Amino acid sequence: MTATLLGGIGELVTCDATLGDGSRLGLMRDAALVIEDGAVAWVGPSREAPAADRCLDAGGRCVVPGFVDSHTHLVFAGERSDEFAARMAGEPYTGGGIARTVEATRAASTGELRAGAAARLAEMHASGTTTVEIKSGYGLTVADEVRLLEVAGALTPETTFLGAHALPREYAHDRDGYLDLVCGPMLAACAPLARWADVFCDEGAFSEQEARRVLAAAAAAGLTPRLHGNQLAYGPGVRLAVEIGAASVDHCTYLTGEDVETLASSEVVATLLPGADFSTRAPYADARRLLDAGVTVALATDCNPGTSYVTSMPLMIALGVREMRMTVAEALWAATRGGAQALRRAEIGRLGLGAAADLTVLDCPSHVHLAYRPGTALVTATLRAGVTAYERAGAGLSR
Ligand SMILES: [Zn+2]
Repeated sequence: MTATLLGGIGELVTCDATLGDGSRLGLMRDAALVIEDGAVAWVGPSREAPAADRCLDAGGRCVVPGFVDSHTHLVFAGERSDEFAARMAGEPYTGGGIARTVEATRAASTGELRAGAAARLAEMHASGTTTVEIKSGYGLTVADEVRLLEVAGALTPETTFLGAHALPREYAHDRDGYLDLVCGPMLAACAPLARWADVFCDEGAFSEQEARRVLAAAAAAGLTPRLHGNQLAYGPGVRLAVEIGAASVDHCTYLTGEDVETLASSEVVATLLPGADFSTRAPYADARRLLDAGVTVALATDCNPGTSYVTSMPLMIALGVREMRMTVAEALWAATRGGAQALRRAEIGRLGLGAAADLTVLDCPSHVHLAYRPGTALVTATLRAGVTAYERAGAGLSR
C-alpha cells in the first residue's frame, strides 16, 4: 500500500468541526494529510506528519474538500446562447426552451453526447469539483433517456432519472399518455441505470399530483426522490419534497414562511442554484433566511444549456456570498458538505480521517479568496480518491 503525504498546507479546510479550530469548517493552519487507498489516513500539523512513500508539497497554499456539485444536467447537445441574450434584453424565462435541447440531444450521436459531457466534466475538475450528480431529461423517449443515463453513469455514480423534465412535443396534447410512459416502460428501462429520480415540479412544468405520481412509481422501483421546486413561482415543491422524504429540493427561489418552517423541521436539503438565478435574471434564493431558520443548504451549478451554462463551483460560492448573504464559511460548507448531504454521502465533502481523498489545492492563502477573487482561476490541482484529476501546468506539487 502506497502512502502519499500532502504537506505544506498553509490552511486546511476539513469541514469537520471536531478538527482544527472547532468551527464548522474545521480550519487547521500549517497542516498535512496522508492519503492511503484513496482515503484520508492521517490529518494533523505538518511538523507531526508521519513518513510516507511519496511526498507532495502544497507550498503554503490552501486545501479544501473537493466541491460536490449535487445538481447538474451535464449530458446534452447544442447550446442556447441566443435565449440568454434575449433574456438579458428583457424577455422572461418560461421553461419552453427545454424542447430545443431535447431535439438537439435526440439528434446527437452517443459519441457526441459523451464527448460534450466529458469536456464539461474536465472544466469542473479544473475548477475544483470532485463529485457531480447528473440528470437525464433531454431524451424523453425510452431509448434516449437510457442513452443519457448510460453516458452519465460512465462519469458518476450519482445518476438521476428525470423523464419528467418537460412534456415532449409529440405528447403536447396527451399529458397523461406521457406520464404513463414515464411511470411505465421508461422508468422500467431507466431504474437500473439511476440512483435518484427527479421531477420538474413548477408553474408551466409538472403539477404536484403529476410529480407525486412519478416519484411514487420511482420509489417503488428503488429510486430515491429529489425535486426541482419553487423556481418560477410559489408552489407545492417544498411541501411535496418533505412529505415524500426527498433527499433535496432544488432552486427554492420562491418560498413562503410556511415552506421555510417545513424545511427547517425536516431532513430535506435546500439546494440553491445561483447560476440559474444569475442566467435568468431571477431574484436570488434567500439563503440567509433558510440558514437563519436552521435549514441545511447546498450550493450547486445546475449546469445546463438553457438557464445555467456554468461549471464553476467557486462562482456559486461567490454568488452565494455576494447575492444570497451567506458568509464565506457557510457558502464553502454548502458547496462541499451541503452537497454531500444532498447526495446522502458521508465520506465526501470533508477531509477528516476516513474521508475520501477528494481535495482541491487553491493557489491562495485562505479559502476566503474563493469569494473575494471571483472569476480568478485559483485551482492548482484537484485530486479524486487521491488521484490527480486536474493539475495546472507547472504547479509543481511533487518533490
Ligand atoms: Zn436543474
